[in-house]
Formats: sequence, C-alpha cells, structure tokens
Amino acid sequence: MKRGPVGSPIVKSNKKPKVHGDYEQYMHLNTTYYTHPITCQKANNFNNQSRKKPVDLLKQLNSKQEKSGGIKTFIHWFRGDLRVHDNRALLEALEQFKKYKEQGPAQFLTIFTINEHDWRAHLDSGWKLKFQLNAVRNLGERLSKMSIPLHVLHFQPEDPLLCSSGEYASWLKSECLKLAKDSGPTLVTANLQYGADEQYRDVKVFERCDAKFKFQVFHDACVIDPGTLATGKGTQYTVFTPWYKKWIAEVQEDLKDSGFVKEEPEKPISDQKVEFKNPDYELPSEFANYIPEGGPEVPEASEKAAFQQLSDFLKGKVHDYEKKDHLPDEGSSHLSCYITSGLISTRVVVKESVKESNGAVAAKDVRKNSPVQEFIREVAWRDFYKHAFSNWPFLSMDIPYHFELNDMNWRDDKEAFISWCEGKTGVPIVDAIMRKLLCTGYINNRARMITASFMCKNLLLDYRWGERWFRKHLIDFDLASNVGGWGFCSSTGIDSQPYFRILNMELQSKKFDPKGDYIRKWVPELKDCKDVHTFHLARKGYKSAIVDYKKSREDALAAYREII
Ligand SMILES: Cc1cc2nc3c(=O)[nH]c(=O)nc-3n(C[C@H](O)[C@H](O)[C@H](O)COP(=O)(O)OP(=O)(O)OC[C@H]3O[C@@H](n4cnc5c(N)ncnc54)[C@H](O)[C@@H]3O)c2cc1C
Repeated sequence: MKRGPVGSPIVKSNKKPKVHGDYEQYMHLNTTYYTHPITCQKANNFNNQSRKKPVDLLKQLNSKQEKSGGIKTFIHWFRGDLRVHDNRALLEALEQFKKYKEQGPAQFLTIFTINEHDWRAHLDSGWKLKFQLNAVRNLGERLSKMSIPLHVLHFQPEDPLLCSSGEYASWLKSECLKLAKDSGPTLVTANLQYGADEQYRDVKVFERCDAKFKFQVFHDACVIDPGTLATGKGTQYTVFTPWYKKWIAEVQEDLKDSGFVKEEPEKPISDQKVEFKNPDYELPSEFANYIPEGGPEVPEASEKAAFQQLSDFLKGKVHDYEKKDHLPDEGSSHLSCYITSGLISTRVVVKESVKESNGAVAAKDVRKNSPVQEFIREVAWRDFYKHAFSNWPFLSMDIPYHFELNDMNWRDDKEAFISWCEGKTGVPIVDAIMRKLLCTGYINNRARMITASFMCKNLLLDYRWGERWFRKHLIDFDLASNVGGWGFCSSTGIDSQPYFRILNMELQSKKFDPKGDYIRKWVPELKDCKDVHTFHLARKGYKSAIVDYKKSREDALAAYREII
C-alpha cells in the first residue's frame, strides 16, 4: 500500500469503509463493565472533598513506597508510554538499578499488559490498538539492544474484569513475582495515566504491596505535571488562557534545567544477550475489523518514525501553521498517534519547537504568537485537559463538567445518529469528514469541531454518543483530549464554547474547503457537482440534509436556554 506522509495515508476515497451495526454501544454506558454508574451528586463529592481524588490517593501511596530498599528485580511496566527516550519512570528505574547493581546482583526487565476487557469497555479503536501493538514489537526490539527484556502479558479472566479490579492487580503482582523468580524484593515502576479506571488500577496495585512487592508511579504524560499550576486561591484553573500564561512561565523556567528531557543510557545495561520474543498475539477481529480492508495501513509505530515526523514538521509545515485548519491539506503535525501512545514525549516536542522559535515558548502578548508558538499552544491544550481530568475525576466517568447539562433534553434519534456516523446526513462537509474518519482513522482538529458541533447542536444528540464514536474510530484516541474536545463543542465541558455559538456548516465549508476538493474526494456522489457547500440544495444521487439548518439552530438555542 502506497503511503503519504505519516498519519495521512493515501486512500482511495471510493474504498467502502466498514460500518459496524451495533450502534447501541455508543448510545449507552456499557453496564457489563460499569454496573454502578456515578451520578452528578456523587461526582460532586470529589468537588466538596468528601471523596478523595484518585490522584491524591496515589500521591499518598507513592510517598510511602519511595523509601523501599534492597531491590533485586526492577520491572518497568509500559502503559501509555511506549518509548525509551525521555521516559521518566523507565529512566528513573534504570538509574536506581545501576546503583543497586554496584552492590550485588540485580535484574532489570519490562512488561506490557493486554486486557481485552479494558479495550471493550473503553471502546478503544482498532487503529490505535494495531498501532500500539506494532509499537510494542518495535519497542521490544529496541530494548533487546539495550539488554532489557520486554514480556507481553495477557490477562484472560473468565469474567469481564477491568484493569481497576482487584483480580487484575493480584494477577499483575503474581506475574511480576513469577518473572522475578524469587530473587528478592521486586520494584515495579510505571508512568501515571489520568483516566479514572487507570488511576484506580494503580491504587489496587499499591494495595497489594508488601515486603516482596513494591510499586512506584511517576508523572510523565504532560509537559507540566498535573497539580502544578493553581490559581491564586490554590484551585484548578477552569479557563485556558490564564492557565496557559502560567504554563508558559513554568515551561520557560523548566527548559533551563538540563533534565527537562531525560536522556537514555548510551550503552546496554549489561552483557546479557536478550532476544525479543515476538508475542504470539494477533489483534482479535472484533477490534481489527474497524480498519477497512485494503485501505491504508497504520503509520510506522516506532520512536524513530515519531522523531522523523516531528523534525520534518518543524523544518516545513509548522511555518504555515496558521493554515492548519485547511481541510484538504491538513497542515498540522500529525503527531497525535505518536503522542497518544507515548512514542514521543510532549516535552521533546516542546523543547524542539522552542529551538525553532528562538528560545521563546510564546510571544509576550500571546495574541502575537508566531506559527511555531501557536503549535506549542496547541500542545498545551493537551496538558490543560489532562490537568482537568486529574482534578475532576468524574470527567472520565461520562459526567459533564457543567452538571446542569447532564439533564439536557437531547433528542433520542437513533436514525439521525446513524446517518451522522456513516456520513449520510446530506450535509456535504459533515459527510466528507465522517467518511474520511471511517476510512483513515484520522481527521484534523477543524474537522472534529465541525462534525461535533453539527452532531450536538444541529442534530441535538447527546455529545457522549459522538464522543464514544470517536473513541472507536480515532487512531489518536485519548480520553482526556476527546472528552475535552467534545465538552468544548457541546458547551458541556471546561472552558467550552458558549452554548449559543453554533458553527454555520455552509460558512465552515466555504472557509476550510474553499474549492470543495475535500468534499469531492470523500463524497464521490458530488464529484461533478459545482456547488458542494450550500446546505439545502437538491443534488442528484445525494440525499438532502436531514435537518433544516435555521430550525435546528433555533431548537438548540431553546434546549440549552431551558437548562442554563
Ligand atoms: C471533538 C474533538 C475530539 C478530539 N479528540 C482527540 C483525541 O481523542 N485525541 C487527541 O489527541 N486529540 C483529540 N482532539 C484534539 C485535536 O483535534 C487533535 O489532537 C489534533 O487534531 C491531532 O492532530 P495533529 O497531531 O496534527 O495536531 P497538531 O495541531 O499538530 O497539534 C500537536 C499536538 O498537540 C495536541 N493537541 C492539538 N490540539 C489539541 C486540542 N485541541 N486538544 C488537546 N490536544 C491537542 C495533540 O497531542 C497534537 O498531536 C479532539 C478535538 C476535538 C474538537
């Protein structure tokens, strides 16, 4: 298969994407896994501090472990951090290992764990899983050159159990102790993930610690660690711009520290010859089937490819970043699949970008940011959403930031939802975006905003339905950014669009696909059509719009006003 630049595979637009019939999975929370969904009232317990946030529990548990000594086996557990370079927990563990090794025998190994139930419950996308499994294979090869073994472990319970279950934590402990072969105390290190399931998973693992089994977690996923930036009152920021100004100052300061990006060891850690045993595991068809047959392949999933992508972008397209929204070009970095799965750290992305910007993270007046600085600002949005996730754990439990909007009177219209999912709404720009998503697993930020706005505001469908559809179809699916993006577009989230801001599909279409090339490529029925932008226009072979734009706008305003 011929490939375009990484992240934008060349795909024939007439390739029929596979669509999978079970739409109900997007319309409800999965009660097989989430038997007691949280309510807004209970979510508020995190706000009024009557329930401890998992991040605080972890902080407390972690501090108890820091003094652990006499370790004989070090195990780094890879999760969303599939890299060696600038991997904080891994490199910290390697440093500790080196010290212990000077005093006596010690071993170092790594693990990656598979639990298909997590993938099912989280609606993880086939694109992302395939990309991650390829990344694990490449990582295993890379680690073997450093004399570090990587073991791929598969949790296969009889019952549907998530990683946050006690059974999972017990299984993990027993697998680690088996690998350690009774050599003495074992220390497992890992980088934090900020979804609630993942944080409670780590709490459960901590609960299993004893003299033989230790656990330590590190912040790694953000440029600036969650919990670092607070308002004058010591609370979490709810608005991006003041938070971003603090973020700039912090990053500018941190960049002076030579350890801002952690360098990996230059030499193998021992003389031991290690061969990576390719895991005997194929992605089951229930996940892999979401990738269209004969269509594009996932981008090369290696650290080297991630660095190449960054360096090509910084040498070229970043200087035209103001044009990133243009739909046919998609001139943004396409780094998201690498960042989401942790093949490159955002500290590296920022550090390299700042070099291109003469050392300044942003302009004094951020409204005058250069294109490179605007790119850095977008990376900051990712941190912003992760900080929010960490502070308001209910955001990853399907509860909106604005509790009152949980009672919004969304339309219960499955047919309209299916039309949206399949790119058959009769609104050319929306259909082009949705079909591209199905075919390639990637659409750019502007496309996400256009289609999300259309779904929540013009179709007045529950934003969570769309959020779940995106999870299943994006190669870069990241819960915090996805929930953040949907919250923004549906006006239910932190620092979101005001409810009355409803994107005009016709204007968006004309502005971001002026010649209609994107639409004609992805909606071949319109390839000979002159006017592809106008909302309501009878077109042969193409259905007319499923909503009346003006009326849908009025209905949305009325529905929001009723609640707000
Ligand atoms: C409804 C909606 C859903 C989204 N879902 C996701 C998702 O699941 N995963 C995801 O990574 N991003 C998501 N985003 C954010 C954004 O659209 C993507 O990060 C971006 O399109 C990825 O392309 P890029 O790497 O070329 O971006 P670039 O513009 O080159 O940005 C570089 C990096 O910065 C980060 N970034 C950029 N914009 C944002 C943003 N608005 N919010 C958070 N991080 C950002 C990403 O890590 C991105 O890779 C969503 C946005 C919306 C509106």
